[in-house]
Amino acid sequence: MSKKVLITGAAGFLGSHLCERFVDEGFHVIGMDNLITGRMSNMDHLIGKSNFEFVHHDITEHISINGDLDYILHFASPASPIDYLKIPIQTLKVGSLGTHNCLGLAKAKKARIIVASTSEVYGDPTVHPQTEDYWGNVNPVGPRGVYDEAKRFQEAITMAYHTYHGVETRIVRIFNTYGPRMRLNDGRVLPAFIGQALRGEDLTVFGDGSQTRSFCFVDDLVEGIYRLLMSDCPDPVNIGNPDEISIGDFAEEIIKLTGTTQKVVYEELPVNDPKQRQPNIDKARELLDWEPKIGRAEGLRITYDYFKSLPAEDLYKKEHNNFKEYIKK
Ligand code: UDP
Repeated sequence: MSKKVLITGAAGFLGSHLCERFVDEGFHVIGMDNLITGRMSNMDHLIGKSNFEFVHHDITEHISINGDLDYILHFASPASPIDYLKIPIQTLKVGSLGTHNCLGLAKAKKARIIVASTSEVYGDPTVHPQTEDYWGNVNPVGPRGVYDEAKRFQEAITMAYHTYHGVETRIVRIFNTYGPRMRLNDGRVLPAFIGQALRGEDLTVFGDGSQTRSFCFVDDLVEGIYRLLMSDCPDPVNIGNPDEISIGDFAEEIIKLTGTTQKVVYEELPVNDPKQRQPNIDKARELLDWEPKIGRAEGLRITYDYFKSLPAEDLYKKEHNNFKEYIKK
């Protein structure tokens, strides 16, 4: 009998790649999503496979799964700043109530669970690069607080289930990740710049462009998550690519990649936008024998080819279809 795995956020960017990996490894995969920010089209290649089933469910409500369950990967959450600003309460609920339901399910089924945490738990970091023992610098009442604090609560309740209930838990702190199946209109810097280049618009750099990020290609992230899940480490582990770049230089890279003749324009920096971000991945190297293999040049090329292959109408969609019905909930 193949092992059974539940993946929440299955229709999202990361969730869909994780489903693919676990289906390919021969697991029986239950993909779950409420489709607020996820899209059915992200699972086109999975629907119809005998070891994949999709369940449309909001995990802030009780989750019920028949029979045994071996693993849970909890990846449901709005994840881009403009998404969680539009649906702040849902963001807090999925990180708190949703995580509680996933942990309760893990306890009931004696399943091992990995939860998706984030470099945002470090906030606007004063320690650089960020090591797992840094506690962070988060403004709980700032606009990003709904995401950052939900994820910090998620880590706390996950550790509590480990300590007090003996649940086998894993926590991955994910740094900026990119690749095919990101939403062109999700507001994150890479789809924003590529979308602008494809529409023949100027590239909008927020602030003076000196803030830094470190971008990891999705396949590398998936490998790191797989290894962490199969490891015996309950403490948080950073998974990301330490190749740091300023947003200004990143815009120049996208201009070269796309061959656009447009220029960079500067817009106001969002409130509490972290000034620098770079993972220290010593722990992942040591514990998981993992490090990223795909450099930015290769990863960006693959991602650009994906965005170019999308129907032209996707380029002009301002908002994700399902937002409206959830925004006022
Ligand atoms: N950014 C930008 N132009 C855009 C979108 C984002 O300059 O059109 C900047 C943003 O202010 C931040 C960085 O790019 O400094 C990364 O933003 P993103 O939303 O991708 O993720 P974050 O790492 O801030 O969560």
